[in-house]
Amino acid sequence: MTRNPYNASPESSVAERIRIIREVIAEEAAKTGRDPAGIKLMAVTKTVGPERVNEALEAGVELLGENRAQELREKFQFYACDSAKIHFIGHLQTNKIKDIINRVTCVESVDSVRLAHELNEACRKADLQLDIFLQVNIGSEPQKSGFLPSETADAARQISELEHLHIRGLMAVPPHVPGEQYLAAMEALRGELQAASIPNTSFDELSMGMSEDYAAAVRHGSTILRIGRGIFGDRT
Ligand SMILES: *Cc1c(COP(=O)(O)O)cnc(C)c1O
Repeated sequence: MTRNPYNASPESSVAERIRIIREVIAEEAAKTGRDPAGIKLMAVTKTVGPERVNEALEAGVELLGENRAQELREKFQFYACDSAKIHFIGHLQTNKIKDIINRVTCVESVDSVRLAHELNEACRKADLQLDIFLQVNIGSEPQKSGFLPSETADAARQISELEHLHIRGLMAVPPHVPGEQYLAAMEALRGELQAASIPNTSFDELSMGMSEDYAAAVRHGSTILRIGRGIFGDRT
């Protein structure tokens, strides 16, 4: 049973784990008639050194996901890719915006209108355009950041007016519970926002699915799978 990369032996190489994950993605995509080419694999790099991150790039991951501004600042110069392949996915404090602004092409974790305003201002000063996703607290969990599902459309309307930001999708870290209801809820919310046709937004991207639920996320329309331990092994 090496089919589950999360259970791959500690000796498994990054490339081997990625190969298995791609197989699972292809199988799950086939079940729902999706083209696997529309599903990007993101390597989530927190605590992982740049050499191992570069192995993942070498093995063909489409994106890197960074949680911490400080870590990104330290590791960026050693990465074998530029900002085009890097998304920020962690909670972003406004005083850390300057550390990430030139090192990523997308902030997936925009979780307040205030943060969006601050990002827009930083982009204006740097003469940059930035893609963003809205982070949704799909389980309405008090300890988690993100827009509540009921406030997301209104937030999208407000943020869509900021001229340096471009909303491209939604991101979520669903509750750790059995079943797929939160993945299904994200898929439905994405559909509602697409149907709302808010000017200057697209909801083409749906970033969800981590090491333990990525197969199910493929069945629910995810376009970006954010995988850490499944690629690099357990974090120390
Ligand atoms: C750590 C993290 C992941 C990856 O989690 P794994 O369980 O290691 O795959 C994905 N998304 C976010 C926002 C994370 O912080």
